[in-house]
Amino acid sequence: MIIAIDGPSGAGKSTVAKAVAKKLGFSCLDTGAMYRAVAWQAQQNGVPLDDNEALGEVARTYDIEFGHNEGDPVPKRVFIGGVEVTDAIRTTEIDKAVSPVSAAPAVREALVDQQRRIGNAGDYVVEGRDIGTVVFPNAEVKVFLTASDEERAHRRVRQNVDRGVGSLDYEEVLADLRRRDAYDSSRATSPLRPAEDAIHIDSTTHYIEDVIEQICSLAKAARQ
Ligand code: C5P
Repeated sequence: MIIAIDGPSGAGKSTVAKAVAKKLGFSCLDTGAMYRAVAWQAQQNGVPLDDNEALGEVARTYDIEFGHNEGDPVPKRVFIGGVEVTDAIRTTEIDKAVSPVSAAPAVREALVDQQRRIGNAGDYVVEGRDIGTVVFPNAEVKVFLTASDEERAHRRVRQNVDRGVGSLDYEEVLADLRRRDAYDSSRATSPLRPAEDAIHIDSTTHYIEDVIEQICSLAKAARQ
């Protein structure tokens, strides 16, 4: 079974996806981390962020892998080409570079292929922007998770404090979220938009525990 969770940056997708996966015993795939890893590798290699072909080559050449911390069933560590980039992909620099990288059709083609291969191997909660529309249009459960801009920025700052990486400046984080949303929503290939059959959940007005419960119930109903 595939549970697709799409939505803009900072809506709570990662928190919710990981918790749902834990509760249901599913695996969990963070597709944003894959685009971030390709952006990081492109920067290492000095690839111009508007060179579709060269970016596609990076996405096709370097293996992206996920790893677990001891005792944690949810994979939170990210590797590209064998190098751990768990923290390196969360910097302000990568926040900026990832938009043009993820808009490159050659990158999307390569990563969507990998995402399908991974997801088809078992029961997965997959989070991203185009999971319910493009990657897994037949997902049994599709959720489009949103929250107000201000709430999303506050959450992202708190997450950056916890991770010890990324900007702690609320105004800067808010401006970056809005810039990325605009970029993600207006790009030609796989723009951020809800699937027609997605269930919309606004996490500004709901406790995150309730959102998690609701998605678990949807999954159980879809199983029957
Ligand atoms: O989810 P996260 O904020 O880490 O994603 C980083 C970026 O990767 C997004 O701003 C978006 O540009 C891109 N992305 C995408 N498609 C996905 C997941 C992420 O274009 N399925």
